[in-house]
Amino acid sequence: MSGLFPHLFSPLTLRRKTLGNRIVFGGHTPNMAVQGVPGEDPLAHFPGERMIAYYAERARGGAAMIVAEAIPAHETSVFARASLRPGDDTLVPHMRRLVEACREHGTVMIQGIAHVGAHGDADNSYTPNWSPSGGHSYLDFHGSHAMTEAEIEAVIEGFVRAARLAKEAGYDGVEVGAGYNALIEQFWDPLVNRRDDRWGGGLENRLRFSTCILEGIRGAVGEDFIVGLAVTGDDSGPGGLDLAARAELLARLDGPGLMDYVAVGAGTFFNTERVMPSFMTEEMFAVPLAAEMKKALKNAPIVASGLVGTVANAETILSGGMADMVSLIRPQMADPHLAIKASEDRPEEIRPCIACNQRCLGRRARDYWMSCLVNPAMGNEHQWGGEPYPPAAGRRGLLIVGAGPAGLEAARVAAERGHRVALMERTDAVGGQLRLTAEQPRRQAVGELLRWYRDELTRLQVEVRLNQNLDAEEVRDFGADAVILATGSSPARDGYQRSRPDVERLPGSEEESVLSIDDVLSGIPVPGPRVLLLDESDDWKGAGTALYMAERDLRVSFLTKGAIVAKTLVVTKTHKALRKRFKELGIEEILQAALVSWSEGAATIKHLLRGETETVRFDSLVLSTTNVAEVGLQAALADSGIEVHAVGDCVAPRTAAAAIFEGRRLALAL
Ligand code: SF4
Repeated sequence: MSGLFPHLFSPLTLRRKTLGNRIVFGGHTPNMAVQGVPGEDPLAHFPGERMIAYYAERARGGAAMIVAEAIPAHETSVFARASLRPGDDTLVPHMRRLVEACREHGTVMIQGIAHVGAHGDADNSYTPNWSPSGGHSYLDFHGSHAMTEAEIEAVIEGFVRAARLAKEAGYDGVEVGAGYNALIEQFWDPLVNRRDDRWGGGLENRLRFSTCILEGIRGAVGEDFIVGLAVTGDDSGPGGLDLAARAELLARLDGPGLMDYVAVGAGTFFNTERVMPSFMTEEMFAVPLAAEMKKALKNAPIVASGLVGTVANAETILSGGMADMVSLIRPQMADPHLAIKASEDRPEEIRPCIACNQRCLGRRARDYWMSCLVNPAMGNEHQWGGEPYPPAAGRRGLLIVGAGPAGLEAARVAAERGHRVALMERTDAVGGQLRLTAEQPRRQAVGELLRWYRDELTRLQVEVRLNQNLDAEEVRDFGADAVILATGSSPARDGYQRSRPDVERLPGSEEESVLSIDDVLSGIPVPGPRVLLLDESDDWKGAGTALYMAERDLRVSFLTKGAIVAKTLVVTKTHKALRKRFKELGIEEILQAALVSWSEGAATIKHLLRGETETVRFDSLVLSTTNVAEVGLQAALADSGIEVHAVGDCVAPRTAAAAIFEGRRLALAL
């Protein structure tokens, strides 16, 4: 029993199942299902090895309850390519394998079921979207089909049938997805439910669809089966249901005990950035919504979610009586063994999620299976295995050169596997470019990740030496069994732009008034007040540095060849918050433009669509361009006869995600 988190580790009984703690791995869409059940519908999807190993690792890590990716209740409700399809009985054996893989760890297993109504993806479902009154999708310009009475009955039966299949597969319960303005909430909401039959109008009529689903499921699955409901606490958009209206609706369902728990999230398809909030949003922002629901409901326990982030926050929520359980999805993506570590009062060993959305949502939005920037094993558990890592076949002495993300990860995992590791860093601190990222506004979580790495290296007795700029001879003389080069990359300082591939060096880029973003974030004074930032990164590298400078009273102009700033952040749902902050700070956006030259503060800018050029005066130019790999040691050690590996940016300058991935993969192989 945890002394630090007594509320988090007190048991809770739902129906006749007892959860060992209050930590839930809530419903989400990892996009991992495998397509095409043999001999069946080629569009069908089922849980394969990747998906089973993904959930099983979180079960092994101590999550009390797992809500598996929702099955659409009906063929009109497919919302991601690799969604489990509303299958027939052929889905059951595959679902059973998933349940059994998790059940052996004592986890209560819940199957999600949902229908997203007007907000489906017709490119995936090959059907029109359905809704109460033919309302608009918030995701695209598509209209939807106003459901007939028979179609409403068919969807209700779809929910009931999916629950029956879940029970047959061995699940302990189902979670009915109403949240994010899905079909059930669309029936509740008079803004979009304009029906004048028994499914629309007064409160009782608008509740009828959800009541029929919950009653139908209970009738089909019996008294022992858990039936949860996932809702949004937020307003569903201008003129839509607000929190008070939602609480009133739910109290009506709660009175007769139609659900065994209610999971309260935030955001809808109208404002999806609140559904998966990033570091641009306040921690625990959605907890007050859960707390209001808890006040309104007399029977169903409440699951809180919404950037809870840490087990300490979760304990605060429970001890404050704001909820009864806490859903920690991304924190358990980042560290699948979060619950076990917390239960043993080792919270400082939990690898922190940095709320970046880059490899989870960012990958799914591009139709890949979800993974995690800080935990590259996520989605690879079926090949890499889980934690703890398997011991190395033999203990070797490893010398790792460079303590950026690739070197830190390689050192940590190699030491965990039993190798004797020495980590050499050229500067006076570990972290590499992550250390600079942590300087950008709202990136404290990156600093927390570095704190975690430092603590883990100490715990694992890795020998860390700072201010060590090793040459090839010193590396050889060290006498390691193998050398890992993680020497990273450095700013190119040449002003290369993809819109001008024939210009290797920007005229004027050698002037003193030209800085790199590394210079800026390292604290080198930026001549001001007028700064031009040339961005090639399209992500936080440039955009976060613009915020950093603007918050220090510099007047920043942000020049990109793109039609929008930082376009890669659209898929991580951080773009809207970034643009808002740009506006608040008065950062000028110069779009679809290239820099032709820089000369003593005069920037000649070419507008790519109009073809015109203009010259504008600034005090300094900051380059956010592609780095160059630090390959010196690799070249010098090429014929040394010692075992040398290279990982991260020194192979090719990319992202922290790629560096951590390669560090982990190599350390697991040695
Ligand atoms: S990719 Fe980023 S936000 Fe997503 S789980 Fe990993 S650390 Fe958290």
